[in-house]
Amino acid sequence: MKILVYNRKNSEVWTSAVRKAFPDADVRHWVEEECHDWLADYAVIWQPPASFFLQQTQLKAVFNQGVGVDSLVNLGSLPVDLPVFKLRGVGMEEYMSDYVTYGLLHFYRDFDLYRQQQSDVLWQQHNIDQKSDWTVGILGMGVIGKAVAKAVSALGFPVIGWSRTEKQIEGVESVSGDEGLEHLLKHSRVLVSLLPSTPATRKLLNQKTLEKLPRDSVLINGGRGDVIDMEALQQVLESGHMRGAMLDVFEVEPLDKNHPLWKNSRVIITPHIAAPTPIEQALEQIVADVAGIEQGEMPPAIDKSLGY
Ligand code: NDP
Repeated sequence: MKILVYNRKNSEVWTSAVRKAFPDADVRHWVEEECHDWLADYAVIWQPPASFFLQQTQLKAVFNQGVGVDSLVNLGSLPVDLPVFKLRGVGMEEYMSDYVTYGLLHFYRDFDLYRQQQSDVLWQQHNIDQKSDWTVGILGMGVIGKAVAKAVSALGFPVIGWSRTEKQIEGVESVSGDEGLEHLLKHSRVLVSLLPSTPATRKLLNQKTLEKLPRDSVLINGGRGDVIDMEALQQVLESGHMRGAMLDVFEVEPLDKNHPLWKNSRVIITPHIAAPTPIEQALEQIVADVAGIEQGEMPPAIDKSLGY
């Protein structure tokens, strides 16, 4: 079996991990000029250039080294009938639950206010709200969204989850469609976006939708940056309609050094670290998926027409 690995930033780590996970396979790191006559059966990749698929025409399946497949789906050269698999959980759901919990507690327990007070040398205590007044609305109830919903629900916060198809999760109100989104926005003190970037989700959070949130609400984005219209976010923060935000992902990464959000004291910015891929666990899933394919059992592939 021939396997190609591509990761522009982290190629050595991934290539040696794939070799260890597939000891009987011929594993190579993809270098365009060296692989013209070396066509692989499988590819384990992250954000390859378009020429990858123009050259590698014998692939049986492609494994994405992360969850987000937007950059792959947007490549014009990805063959329509080539199955693409994204990672499903593999521990990232726990990382993301920790990230969202941190952001939620930061605002719920007024750490944003206390941080400002410390720089103003001000000793002032704030009452603690009822958790029942801090409904958490989660956009995207996939593998990660569901885990986050369970984690914050276990802390005692009411949770509403929005997805394309409704879910049944104990203690979580599940909604879908435009009406479901309206309902979620109206009631969410904390809005958490864990949506993929697709034609249907891009700029979903804009002036019109963000203004539907209750006053003083906060946004946590761990999904994809282009789901948010950043200018609209800045406006609702400036107008005082929204209290703050914690953002891990941006339409263009790294976020421009001159972007005004860097200096906004009500915004926490992290450099896309909410839920990094645990490579060993990821490869356990990929090894199992390849074994399934070889035996004629297809694992769940992404739906390219939906974009995730
Ligand atoms: P999944 O594909 O399992 O879940 C995606 C969820 O979004 C599903 O619930 C899906 O609905 C919902 N969804 C998609 N399109 C729409 C739509 N148009 N309207 C309503 N709901 C929609 O992904 P994961 O949960 O594993 O991951 C979520 C996202 O998190 C990833 O796409 C990735 O971009 C991001 N991510 C970020 C990381 C970071 O470090 N910041 C790390 C890992 C992931 P349905 O259930 O009905 O299909």
